[in-house]
Amino acid sequence: MDEKMTRRDALKGMFFAGMGLAFSGPLLSNSVRAANLPGARTGLPGPWKEAPDGTRIDTRTWSKMGETLGMLGLGCMRLPTLSGSSGGFGRNTPLDQDAVNAMVDYAIAHGVNYFDTAPAYGESEKVTGNALSRHPRESFKIATKISNMHGRATLEAGQRMFEASLKNLQTDYIDFLLLHNLQDVNGFNSRFGNNGLFDWILEQKKAGRIRHLGFSFHGTNDSFPALVDRYDWDFVQIQLNYVDWKEMSRGWGGSSGNTTAEFLYNYLVGKGIPVLVMEPVKGGQLANVDGNIAAVLKERHPDLTPAANALTFVGSLPGVMVTLSGMSNMEQLKENISLFTGFKPFNQEEHDFMLNVADLIKSKGQIPCTACAYCMPCPFGVDIPGNFKIFNNASDALLSTEKNKRVDEKRQAFLKAYTAQEEAVRADACIGCKACLKKCPQHISIPQHMERIRELAAKI
Ligand code: SF4
Ligand code: SF4
Repeated sequence: MDEKMTRRDALKGMFFAGMGLAFSGPLLSNSVRAANLPGARTGLPGPWKEAPDGTRIDTRTWSKMGETLGMLGLGCMRLPTLSGSSGGFGRNTPLDQDAVNAMVDYAIAHGVNYFDTAPAYGESEKVTGNALSRHPRESFKIATKISNMHGRATLEAGQRMFEASLKNLQTDYIDFLLLHNLQDVNGFNSRFGNNGLFDWILEQKKAGRIRHLGFSFHGTNDSFPALVDRYDWDFVQIQLNYVDWKEMSRGWGGSSGNTTAEFLYNYLVGKGIPVLVMEPVKGGQLANVDGNIAAVLKERHPDLTPAANALTFVGSLPGVMVTLSGMSNMEQLKENISLFTGFKPFNQEEHDFMLNVADLIKSKGQIPCTACAYCMPCPFGVDIPGNFKIFNNASDALLSTEKNKRVDEKRQAFLKAYTAQEEAVRADACIGCKACLKKCPQHISIPQHMERIRELAAKI
């Protein structure tokens, strides 16, 4: 461990020297069930067809914008890759076009008509565009984003990004365009307002190249109303799941922040703005809950998996336009489609039960990393989401003061998984440069957590 510390300290010294620095709302009623989706045309080229058994997911109609949308949307950030892992933000891992085609075909046949991608999701736009182009344009809605983050916030760069999106998606209009990852009005001004990009976007909307305009949000409660009130948005995308409903935790050792999905949701509903939901399963965390939590959920809803519990919590909120789930394989897609076909919403008591489960999960002290990879690549090679996943799998034991067999076994399992990683990607390699900090939409104190993970591994 001493040798590793020496290497890390040397890198740290070089880096900082280089910088010239010294060191509650009402739930869904059963009446929210709608008819068939529009756009079901026959006799057209492409693989579109009805599901053999005629099943389709439930829909909701948004009369102001004139859309009927399937309650489940296919999030295209974690599409299957040729290497078998899932894709992600900024990861240029080659995607598996055949697997994506099969998922898109199955989704459309079962009534999913909302597909969400972004220029920042590696090959996602292109591969999603290829898959969708095999279907009648009227049978699906495309959502993509202007992801002009990280120093690319010029008018020209934004224009190029939008034109590239149209080309990649093989279409001449975007159904739902989002300003990607807004946190406050200052960010809006610097990325869209002051450079004239927002005015240009409004011109494109007027010209019919954008049908509905919204933004995705990753800021705090305080900054939300001003952004929402900045324009007459058609919809807004927020992070919403049962753990984040009362407080979006920044995790052990981090700031508690000031964001609650409940506030964001209620603010939008109060303004009559449809709510688009991302991270309903918190990047997979709520699908892979600790064994004790899984048992509690199973006892209450024996027929639902942990992921289905999380999705039902979201889908039961009547202001939710579409619940986006970033799916990586056909199995997940089938499971989710089945859940939203004849969807059974939670009642108030079940909603409250899920909030109690959220408290239990929070007591485990997990780092709320959604594995979105927005923070990657780390300039020093650290696999940030990978280290957090290893920590989260044993967080309760690592933070426990108890000494017993279960705690000891979990700690050893943590150490085994931690050291099984290549040395260059472990938390040990973090030099605390903070390059990742601003990129994390969950506002996780990444360097601080890396330091603690390294200490824990050393201690064990
Ligand atoms: S602070 Fe973040 S970006 Fe910098 S070395 Fe550590 S993990 Fe990598
Ligand atoms: S640390 Fe933040 S940015 Fe990085 S993968 Fe996790 S949630 Fe995403």
